[in-house]
Amino acid sequence: MAKGINLNNLKNQNRSSLLYLLNTYGELSRKELSKKLNLTPAAITKIVQELIESNDVKEGLSISKGLGRKEVLVSLNLEDKLLYGLNVEMDHITLSFSTFSGKLIKRKIIPFNNDFTYVIKEAKDYYLLNNINVQVISLCIIGNLDGFGVYKDIDYQKILEETFNKKVIVSNNVKAFATAGLIFDNKKEEDSLLFFKWGPGIGSSIVSNGKVVTGNDYSSTEIGHYIIHPLSEKKCRCGRKGCLETEVSLKEILNQVKQSGKDLTIEEILESKDEEIIKLIDSKINLSALALVNTATILNVHDIVLFGSMFNNPTFAEKFISKCLQLNPTLTKENIRVSALNSSSGYIGACAIAAQQLFFEKGI
Ligand SMILES: [Zn+2]
Repeated sequence: MAKGINLNNLKNQNRSSLLYLLNTYGELSRKELSKKLNLTPAAITKIVQELIESNDVKEGLSISKGLGRKEVLVSLNLEDKLLYGLNVEMDHITLSFSTFSGKLIKRKIIPFNNDFTYVIKEAKDYYLLNNINVQVISLCIIGNLDGFGVYKDIDYQKILEETFNKKVIVSNNVKAFATAGLIFDNKKEEDSLLFFKWGPGIGSSIVSNGKVVTGNDYSSTEIGHYIIHPLSEKKCRCGRKGCLETEVSLKEILNQVKQSGKDLTIEEILESKDEEIIKLIDSKINLSALALVNTATILNVHDIVLFGSMFNNPTFAEKFISKCLQLNPTLTKENIRVSALNSSSGYIGACAIAAQQLFFEKGI
């Protein structure tokens, strides 16, 4: 339905566009902002003044613009805004204190075994121990929050708000990482991107026109629950059988290697020269690459961003990319890459959703 825009919304929209622009370019003069946003210099001066007063942007260096004129550059001020992040994976949780700009202050990794009472207790103990004043608690969690998948009956927001007496933001962890990719890595509006995660579990998220897609049914972007073996008897955490995740998760790989009589860590498995293990890993790569390439084709995305602990191993990442290129020769090495944020994946999503909701889009 067509909607009108009231003045307040318009003001917030301009403010948000200006902040995203500063995020893309680092720092700009008021004159450059006016030109890029197609707003009058007077309007820009007013927005910037308000943002300086609210401590959201700061003035920096003056640059010479010929004939002795100088222009002051304006940049974002995300450094002194802090958050407490809880990033839940299938087998572990990262508790982290960081800035909205993605700078880690400190973190602790704890095991996770589906026991949320334990998580809340550990999270609270670590929070009290550090006594760092944060603006928000960001929870990034596996699975869907709206219906499909696990943990759907728990009201995390309410539990965390009652525990910490702070504002709480909740997001799926792959969507949060995709948001981090847009805010801290790409910093430009891409037509379409597909984020693919291979960590303990499998996940994906779509970006269209520079925005992370939120569908009515989250399962539309859950590549981990793409049925790859319809005749499989292995039950997935989503309730179905034969999902990609049940075939290629870290747990499944470790189990299969263990069944062959070898008790190895995932790092040892990925470095192994044992022919049987290489064959096993290749078969997992083939399944995942097939699901990913087919998904990218259906969605018509032109860039694929990989992340998750498996891609920390360069040989594995290279093999996976080669398989995708072999399956779809129209892809090039420029179209598929490991995210530059991969080593920060335990906390960067929490920073991104906090920055997006409380900084870039405040009031929209
Ligand atoms: Zn599933």
